[in-house]
Amino acid sequence: MAAVGASAARAALWAVVLVNVVVVEILFVAGGAGKNDVLTVGKFLGVHAALLMMVQLLLVARVPWLDRRLGMDRLTAWHRWVGFSLLWAVVLHATVVVLGYATLDGAPVLRTFFALAGVVASLLGMAAAAVVVTVAVLSTRWARRRLSYETWHALHTLLYLALALALAHQFLETTTFTANAWAAAYWWGLWILTVGAFVGGRFVLPLWRNAYHRFRVSAVVPESDTVVSVHVTGRHLDRLPARAGQFFIWRFPGHNRWWQANPFSLSAAPDGRSLRLTAKAAGTTSAGLRAMPVGTRVFAEGPYGAFTALQRTRDAALLVAGGVGVTPIRALLEEAAGDVVVLYRVQTEADAVLLAELRDLAAGRGAQLHLLTGRTSEGARPFDPANLARLVPDLTGRDVFVCGPPAMTAAVLRSLRALRVPARQVHAERFSLA
Ligand SMILES: Cc1cc2nc3c(=O)[nH]c(=O)nc-3n(C[C@H](O)[C@H](O)[C@H](O)COP(=O)(O)OP(=O)(O)OC[C@H]3O[C@@H](n4cnc5c(N)ncnc54)[C@H](O)[C@@H]3O)c2cc1C
Repeated sequence: MAAVGASAARAALWAVVLVNVVVVEILFVAGGAGKNDVLTVGKFLGVHAALLMMVQLLLVARVPWLDRRLGMDRLTAWHRWVGFSLLWAVVLHATVVVLGYATLDGAPVLRTFFALAGVVASLLGMAAAAVVVTVAVLSTRWARRRLSYETWHALHTLLYLALALALAHQFLETTTFTANAWAAAYWWGLWILTVGAFVGGRFVLPLWRNAYHRFRVSAVVPESDTVVSVHVTGRHLDRLPARAGQFFIWRFPGHNRWWQANPFSLSAAPDGRSLRLTAKAAGTTSAGLRAMPVGTRVFAEGPYGAFTALQRTRDAALLVAGGVGVTPIRALLEEAAGDVVVLYRVQTEADAVLLAELRDLAAGRGAQLHLLTGRTSEGARPFDPANLARLVPDLTGRDVFVCGPPAMTAAVLRSLRALRVPARQVHAERFSLA
């Protein structure tokens, strides 16, 4: 079952990391000390910074097996935290190495720094460190709030440069892994596997899938003044391993710049013939989708995400949607087996997009559907623990899938904790990737 799948995937991922950390410690000890104690510490930090860089790559490689079980949101959240550890490892490595050489030569720190900058291998390392520090600063919440997603993402890709510089730095330096041929083969093999997973998941697989499926817009259907559904067809869609609840990262090259890519969930379970996304106007891309001509070429990366029935641990389920968060919930309802309750939170019934479809699906499956209208500012709090328990008395025996605005999702998750619904039964899609 899926929660088992999720914990097995988490255990497998961290076991791989741990085993490699242990191997690296053994090789580090076998490789011998540095020219003095400070340089030994510097070398230790450098090796671990490189390992963290590999973990970083693996977390965002979009390896399908991991993504389906752990979800891109969780993997990117880990990537964010490992990223800050990488920053400290890189800064400490650079500082300690300069201090180590200053001690060795009995020279002032600044003069040692400039002397090292004159050596190609060290200069490459310094440049890689400078890029890592810059990107880390731009990834703080303060900076993220001030940058558009596209600008931040473009700056984040500078890390590819840091990676190339760091690899060249390692290649030219005399390190733990140059002392012995086995150690060198292991280390570079590890790098080849990690970079291979990243290139495969981020470039080869999406390019191959798009060449194979040739996605195109087949219909554009307004759902309301601000929400539109886009139907997409292609070749051999029955071979696309997409599930209800997952999302794709979409590019519409005729409508947008090629570097603009937006995640949208499938708003209908994939049927092997077409895909559907439903987008609320948030900015230029989503607002402009309704003007897109039929036949427009689409580039879709995915399917991604773990918000699927693969996570089910119980026979009964509660699906909670808020606003446009109804999209994956609508798809999940289509596929849902067993006893299902759906709660759909909107301000007014007129705001409830896809409501007719939800009603038909609920009726066809014998599921209960509750439309919860009202404004929170005027006192409507359907997700307070007491209200939630009244709406769904057997809550603790259900898997709960939640997708809605951040404040609503947080309120539902708080109430589920208060009502002691086991964490393994709770699944949330946040419409944000860390
Ligand atoms: C996993 C996931 C599933 C989603 N599913 C749906 C859905 O089914 N229906 C729906 O209406 N919305 C969905 N969203 C939200 C949707 O992606 C954004 O509203 C959309 O990208 C806005 O783009 P824009 O160019 O119209 O607006 P912009 O003005 O460019 O962006 C508006 C907001 O969206 C964020 N955003 C823009 N591009 C991206 C990106 N590539 N990745 C992450 N955030 C981005 C920006 O940071 C900003 O906060 C989903 C988001 C995620 C992460």
